[in-house]
Amino acid sequence: MEKVDIIGGGIAGLALAGMLDPGKFEVTIFEQRPELPAVGTTLAMWPEAQQALSKLGLLGAVRSRGAIIKTGALRRPSGEPLLSMEGEGLVGISRPELLKLLDSAVPRSVHREAGRVERLPDVAGLTVGADGVNSVVRRELLGRQSAARPTPFLAVRGVIPGTPHKEDIGEYWGRGQIFGLAPAGGGSNWYASFRSDLGPEKVDVAEALEVTRNRYANHSRAVQDVLAKATPETSLAQRIWISPPLAHYAQGNTVLVGDAAHAMTPNLGRGACEALIDAVTLGGLLNELPREEALAAYGRKRVIRTQLLRIASSLMGNVALARSAQPMRDALIKQVGKRVSRTREKAQTSK
Ligand SMILES: Cc1cc2nc3c(=O)[nH]c(=O)nc-3n(C[C@H](O)[C@H](O)[C@H](O)COP(=O)(O)OP(=O)(O)OC[C@H]3O[C@@H](n4cnc5c(N)ncnc54)[C@H](O)[C@@H]3O)c2cc1C
Repeated sequence: MEKVDIIGGGIAGLALAGMLDPGKFEVTIFEQRPELPAVGTTLAMWPEAQQALSKLGLLGAVRSRGAIIKTGALRRPSGEPLLSMEGEGLVGISRPELLKLLDSAVPRSVHREAGRVERLPDVAGLTVGADGVNSVVRRELLGRQSAARPTPFLAVRGVIPGTPHKEDIGEYWGRGQIFGLAPAGGGSNWYASFRSDLGPEKVDVAEALEVTRNRYANHSRAVQDVLAKATPETSLAQRIWISPPLAHYAQGNTVLVGDAAHAMTPNLGRGACEALIDAVTLGGLLNELPREEALAAYGRKRVIRTQLLRIASSLMGNVALARSAQPMRDALIKQVGKRVSRTREKAQTSK
């Protein structure tokens, strides 16, 4: 049996443990959190992440516990739509629910070690850094210059009871601030992001909520109603951190997956999806190939794609959070929106 130590039992770590062949590997998960989190907002699962969930045997459960996302709109702060989108490609699932399902797919043979890891375990087997944006494994492997850095953006988010009205769902792009609203398991999932001096380490949720209410006082009634109902107990607040660019994810007998390898801004909603795809790809390769070949193939499949997404996500963030160029940006989106509706109408009439 080959030994695999997974540092971090979050999305990537649990998915990898669920994927590795228990007949071939002796797996241990090291997790600092005493239990799975109870509070968390919705993660959008893109089609490739759904394929990864299917390989773990969890797609059916995720679809039945999550929500199929059919429509979306980019809106002005007033609520006026700039661009409407339709499709059935995404599934939204709450992070605690997703973690619970991934945890249930971990074989009983996997050992669990509670507590924070500060140094790489001294083992002959494989060590996997699945320990998120502030990865200790990445630091040990690549030195202090690989430390994560805070962006100027705060992310405040939560879930409130009651489903939102269809005409209020979407992402509101203001001058240097975003607000998002979507249905989530019988409630409403919301998020807000803007530049802030709060943090960058620990952020007080009640203070962040107060700042958010003031920042969004000029937004539509729907946005203000959501923020009025939000409580510190059902909300989360943090500065957004990103990892530096990396050219490879494996060195010797250590490999990085998920945010430890490529923490990105949340603007494309891809971080958790890519963490799942990393884990399923790496697990599948380790099951099939000798370790060295598996790690090389993992790098070829995953590094360029995820590093490009990291960059694209930051670019998207800069457009969404534009300040001085905001009127030009909105005029451009409006034009795109008109073109999209004309094409849709033409397609309808030619049917
Ligand atoms: C505001 C916001 C919104 C987002 N929205 C989306 C979205 O809609 N869709 C999407 O795909 N992604 C989204 N993401 C990104 C997503 O949350 C991350 O990409 C994802 O959580 C990464 O999973 P991970 O398992 O790599 O890391 P994490 O989820 O950070 O898990 C790391 C685990 O390792 C543990 N750990 C850390 N250090 C140690 C240590 N030293 N010893 C032991 N254990 C340790 C932690 O406790 C944790 O359980 C969003 C992120 C943010 C901030």
